[in-house]
Amino acid sequence: MNRFGYTRPETVATALEQVREIPGAQFLGGGTNLVDLIKENIARPNVLVDVGRLPLDQVVRLPGGGLRIGARVSNAAVAYHPEVGRDYPLLAKAILAGASPQLRNMATTGGNLLQRTRCYYFYDPAVPCNKRVPGTGCPAKEGFNRIHAILGTSEHCIAVHPSDMCVALAALKATVHVEGPDGPRSIPFAEFHRLPGDTPEQDSSLRPAELITAVELPAEDFSAHHAYLKVRDRDSYAFALVSVAAALKLTAGRITQARLALGGVAHKPWRDETAEALLLGQLPTDAVFKFVAAHVLLTAQGFQNNHFKIELARRAIVRALRGALTSEAQP
Ligand code: SF4
Repeated sequence: MNRFGYTRPETVATALEQVREIPGAQFLGGGTNLVDLIKENIARPNVLVDVGRLPLDQVVRLPGGGLRIGARVSNAAVAYHPEVGRDYPLLAKAILAGASPQLRNMATTGGNLLQRTRCYYFYDPAVPCNKRVPGTGCPAKEGFNRIHAILGTSEHCIAVHPSDMCVALAALKATVHVEGPDGPRSIPFAEFHRLPGDTPEQDSSLRPAELITAVELPAEDFSAHHAYLKVRDRDSYAFALVSVAAALKLTAGRITQARLALGGVAHKPWRDETAEALLLGQLPTDAVFKFVAAHVLLTAQGFQNNHFKIELARRAIVRALRGALTSEAQP
């Protein structure tokens, strides 16, 4: 582990200035991933700019009916916030499906978006990895790849994004607010995380020295028909092999709005808008759900140890959509 400096600014402007002007400076949120990366010598910041005192710790109801969640609000505080529970229970369920109570108390909203893949090779400095050291190769492709991606992979990286919260945020069409050297900007959630392409070292579209300030949820309410299904190797404290966030609106027995996003299958939360469109106007039957699930997996490609994820994802989609009809806790 390298020696590093530490600052704790009180304002967003000071935090931005420090990260912009100190070479090798990096923002620190709850530290639940970054501290591990530092200990393993994967991340080597010169200075950690702790955002823990920035005024980004509020959940605010917006005039149009949406909800703005400050980047510093903990995952636990979001999951147990009464307005999240009432209007966005899909988000609460996804957060509570992840990590452990201790980690959810520390992890922040902004940090959850920025957590890095749990690919074993990425965490082992003794082996090459295109995400850690660009151009060195991807041992996961021919190695042990049970947890790896089946959609949107590239020859350079087959890692998955590990978040549960982000799968729900993708389905809910959240917006990410950031501030940086060029001022504030808003990024639609679907454009925040990237597919690996030939630059797998870049997880997101965040620019250098930009800070996430908030995540905004639109007013649309899927509280009546939603489900978050997480399939994993053990019942708690495990990353998803496959997860599905499903949200529906029904009018006169037919689907009038649909959202569908998958976790554990790609380098980013995998929202499929074409599949959502296929659900519109349909009766919510297993036959329809199976047809849509098959569509989502049309381009899926398995590797030596993870072919099972294709059928697992297909079945999980059907189960989640079925569960959304009754908003079961774990469909
Ligand atoms: Fe590295 Fe990505 Fe390959 Fe894992 S899958 S070894 S993170 S390049």
